[in-house]
Amino acid sequence: MSNIRNIVILTGAGISAESGIDTFRGAGGLWENHRVEDVATPEAFARDPELVLRFYDMRREAIQQKRPNAAHEALARLDREWGGDLLIVTQNVDDLHERAGARRVLHMHGEHLNAWCLACDSRSPWRGPLVDRPECPACGERALRPDIVWFGEMPYRMDEIYDALREADLFVSIGTSGAVYPAAGFVRDARELGLRTLELNLEPSQGSAWFHESRLGAATEIVPHWVDEILSG
Ligand code: NAD
Repeated sequence: MSNIRNIVILTGAGISAESGIDTFRGAGGLWENHRVEDVATPEAFARDPELVLRFYDMRREAIQQKRPNAAHEALARLDREWGGDLLIVTQNVDDLHERAGARRVLHMHGEHLNAWCLACDSRSPWRGPLVDRPECPACGERALRPDIVWFGEMPYRMDEIYDALREADLFVSIGTSGAVYPAAGFVRDARELGLRTLELNLEPSQGSAWFHESRLGAATEIVPHWVDEILSG
């Protein structure tokens, strides 16, 4: 791997699983006992805003009790020590990469700890509940929603992600099932751009065949091992 200079890493729910945050498609295809369509779509929010706001209020409260694990810490170390370009694109809406100390992080699906005002379009850091319809700190309207990209909505900062992929030599996918697009398509784009591709996951993802190499195991074991390896050249 000595010819690797620029790296794009995609992380998914699997990297936070050992911190005690449930993945999306665990047993039964339910997420925290809800069908995805009932809590993670704009239609669900229009139909039953209270249910959706309560669901995200619980998730927002829960993640604040969780801690980064050895996989987040290893990526934070890579961020500190890697001299080339590095972008950690995360589908996760928790803040465990940042709390581990990573700086070069892009949240393509939004963040639990932000609220988005539908009246003035501003984003504000947010730790408390939204179900009681608090005022937007910027405009005062009571029109805040979770700053989460729901199914059917456009992920954030796609141009920056593709710019980074075009400059990269290596694409690494960690703890993601390869079921949610457009992130699931990054590996194919990376292959077309000529990048080396590596998957680190508990089990082969749906896009596993697109990777040059797959390493299977728990993120807290295989991610620190890979980071040691790449930093030692
Ligand atoms: P997913 O739930 O569809 O898939 C999780 C993947 O992680 C699976 O392939 C599984 O084999 C793997 N995995 C589980 N435990 C692991 C471990 N200990 N080590 C390594 N791999 C492990 O998740 P996804 O692909 O990220 O897509 C689902 C969507 O869910 C995303 O859009 C994301 O926004 C959302 N989500 C986020 C969080 C979070 O922020 N932590 C949690 C749940 C869901």
